[in-house]
Amino acid sequence: MSKDILDLAGIGIGPFNLSVAALLDQHPHTRAAFFDQKPAFDWHPGMQLPGARLQTSFLKDLVTGADPCNPHSFLNYLVQQGRLYPFLSAGMPAISRREFAHYLGWVANQLPDLHFGQAVESVRFEDGLFRLEFRQERPPVFSRNLCIGTGIRPHLPPACESVSGDSRLHCIHLMDQPRDFSGQDVAIIGGGQSGAEVLLGLMDGLWGEPASIRWLSRRPNFEPLDETPFTNLYFTPGYVSTFHGLPEQRRRELVRYQKLASDGISPDTLKALYQRLYEYPLEHPGRPVPELLPGRTLYAVTDGTPMTLLTRNRLDDQFEEHQADQLLLCTGFEHGLPPCLEPLERNLKRDSRGQPCIGKAFNLDWDGPDNRAIYTVNQGRLSHGIADSQLSLMSWRSAVIVNHLLGEPHYPVREQAMPLHWRSQKSGAKRDRAGGPRGVTENHSVLKD
Ligand SMILES: Cc1cc2nc3c(=O)[nH]c(=O)nc-3n(C[C@H](O)[C@H](O)[C@H](O)COP(=O)(O)OP(=O)(O)OC[C@H]3O[C@@H](n4cnc5c(N)ncnc54)[C@H](O)[C@@H]3O)c2cc1C
Repeated sequence: MSKDILDLAGIGIGPFNLSVAALLDQHPHTRAAFFDQKPAFDWHPGMQLPGARLQTSFLKDLVTGADPCNPHSFLNYLVQQGRLYPFLSAGMPAISRREFAHYLGWVANQLPDLHFGQAVESVRFEDGLFRLEFRQERPPVFSRNLCIGTGIRPHLPPACESVSGDSRLHCIHLMDQPRDFSGQDVAIIGGGQSGAEVLLGLMDGLWGEPASIRWLSRRPNFEPLDETPFTNLYFTPGYVSTFHGLPEQRRRELVRYQKLASDGISPDTLKALYQRLYEYPLEHPGRPVPELLPGRTLYAVTDGTPMTLLTRNRLDDQFEEHQADQLLLCTGFEHGLPPCLEPLERNLKRDSRGQPCIGKAFNLDWDGPDNRAIYTVNQGRLSHGIADSQLSLMSWRSAVIVNHLLGEPHYPVREQAMPLHWRSQKSGAKRDRAGGPRGVTENHSVLKD
């Protein structure tokens, strides 16, 4: 690395910043460098469970949505690996998570501006430039703009805070090392895709032979990901742009309402799980069949051997107690800016609940000069909608960011014609003082019939 000033410094190299880097690789005059604390590229290695599949089409790769001729596409990966024709014959609507991770690693290996083993410790704004300091001994980096791609952090439910480290394990670390839960009472907490995959793994004996398995979820049932066409329209530039223009309160309501469009369980996984449960007593005579406990809110966990889990059934309102030696937390993730941005805290504009305000081009609203931007990827669920934390629109978002950085519409990012019109058409109705049509007094929340 030279001491020259960069146009863009990327912090974190997960798929989202990798996508920005893959587009910028085609712009040699733009000086960019990306830094990650990991020793090498690796996509969620702790959740590379055998048989796990992507919940997104392979066409929603790092670049194709913005630049289908870009050499870093999934299709070019298949061609270069000599796998295109075998792939086409496999007729797989969803590729494996392992293959997607391999594709991402293949791209990462080709990009010269990625630097691993370099954890960004702090970022300050000095003399018109961002100054990045690192945990490792190395000179600081100076850049005109930033792109924050530090991802998400595992969520620890408050009830589990008192449990000692070894007895609770977030699923994101499950495959980091060999594990054996033989003879233990295992409780999976959290009823989304990860919980379903972990239950399948336990039933397949991936981590020994537990004495018992329980799967607890707060949701009223084990609910499917909604992959139907109109729901998929939430993952389009037109919807994201409409969403971004809505008032804060309405955006919050919508994100809650649309949960199953991004956080449900893949229908194929649900089917496989149900069939495994059905066959379990015949395949494993004498072993207790896993217990599925939906609608349970976890109130408290008493640490000890075994632990006692106090839950409340939201269906009949009764309290229950369950014993467990090992908790597997499939409790999702938290979003938030990384600690290295703390020196810039007071420069950022926040919404009514203290979340950073994010502009249309995924740039944080801050009090610095207009020609200095702090872009964020994966922080905009409340500003840009549920698509922001998914792979679906990552190449489009990268194109929006790169266009903004270049100051020109290099990539086509316009909305595409859809049969569905999100925004209001013009109305000739006369308005009353409250802004509604005269004589109409109903509650017009978007979530009520
Ligand atoms: C198991 C799993 C499966 C998923 N499957 C799908 C799917 O099928 N479809 C879909 O649409 N979405 C999926 N997602 C959601 C989403 O696509 C992924 O979480 C994705 O990895 C997010 O990418 P990211 O770049 O934001 O973050 P990450 O992949 O988490 O990468 C962030 C990187 O930042 C680095 N970092 C953090 N802090 C620093 C620092 N201070 N200095 C340097 N480096 C730092 C970390 O080391 C890490 O490498 C999945 C998520 C999980 C957890």
